[in-house]
Amino acid sequence: MFKALVVEKNDEGKTSASVKEINLDDLPEGEVTVAVEYSTVNYKDGLCIGPGGGLVRNYPHVPGIDFAGTVEESSDDRYKPGDKVVLTGWRVGEAHWGGYAQKARVKADWLVPLPDGLDTRQAMAVGTAGFTAMLAVMALEDHGLSPDKGEVLVTGAAGGVGSVATAILSNLGYDVAGVTGRPETADYLKGLGATKIVPREDINETVKRPLESESWAGCVDAVGGAMLARVLGQMKYGASVAAVGLAGGAGLPATVVPFLLRGVNLLGIDSVMQPYDNRLRAWTRIASDLPMDKLEAMVQPATLDDLPKLGADILKGQVKGRVVVDVNG
Ligand code: NDP
Repeated sequence: MFKALVVEKNDEGKTSASVKEINLDDLPEGEVTVAVEYSTVNYKDGLCIGPGGGLVRNYPHVPGIDFAGTVEESSDDRYKPGDKVVLTGWRVGEAHWGGYAQKARVKADWLVPLPDGLDTRQAMAVGTAGFTAMLAVMALEDHGLSPDKGEVLVTGAAGGVGSVATAILSNLGYDVAGVTGRPETADYLKGLGATKIVPREDINETVKRPLESESWAGCVDAVGGAMLARVLGQMKYGASVAAVGLAGGAGLPATVVPFLLRGVNLLGIDSVMQPYDNRLRAWTRIASDLPMDKLEAMVQPATLDDLPKLGADILKGQVKGRVVVDVNG
């Protein structure tokens, strides 16, 4: 028997989450059984711990969209007992049981070997949020961003994606301006390497003019909505915005003018179905480009018992940085 956070749905359709003892036979099919060591809390986890948000297909359900641990059993040649692995995406924790358990069984294709220089706890301090931040930085670089081009904007800076993006960009030598709606996080953001704090209200209104002065050489946007629309009109000529999230809304009340007159690029970032080679590239870059002392400063430790509250908190935008869930804690 081992522990898992199990979400159940009653006859009235109401969900409730609690820590229960389950056994190996309860786990779904898959080629690799992993002794999970750490998981984390993402916005999607908040939905899956709570009402489901249309993501969970069947109950009872074990959420946790990402985890890191040690292979215990494998029928696939690529993995053997003792290997350290990390998993993000592939709808694990949504359509398939996830990482909020002391063991998980998954497809070998979904796993990535942990790169040298990163342990399982650090991998989950990074988690899906940090992995996605790295994908965003790589996409901006692939479209010509370099530190000499000017300031890079990070929106939702004190959140998971924003915190890791800020630390990586700063470590790579970029000047980083962080947009936050929480002024009390200014010292935290400066500690991660932000050189400027932009108050959310300065940039959160629906676009007034399609073009404003050219301010940003690149942007990692975790917010979407009116803020993304506004940012598009503030980008430098030929610059790119990596659209990662929708914390501020799924709409995009923008005009096409920044694309047509300034050659601005809007780059979509998806972490869930990302091909294996690029996953490996991103995790390898994380191991080399994310300063581990700054990563540690973002960490808020938690256990399986803390998850119902943390799930509710992240849906309200009240989680700072990265929660690391010790499933054996
Ligand atoms: P967090 O909740 O940790 O961070 C989101 C941040 O956005 C908040 O901390 C807050 O930052 C800001 N924010 C929240 N609400 C609003 C609002 N109404 N208006 C403006 N800003 C707001 O989430 P994550 O960092 O984990 O994820 C960020 C987004 O990225 C989410 O939408 C998530 O679903 C998405 N995502 C997408 C992935 C992909 O594959 N594309 C993968 C992972 C995440 P502050 O307090 O600093 O203002």
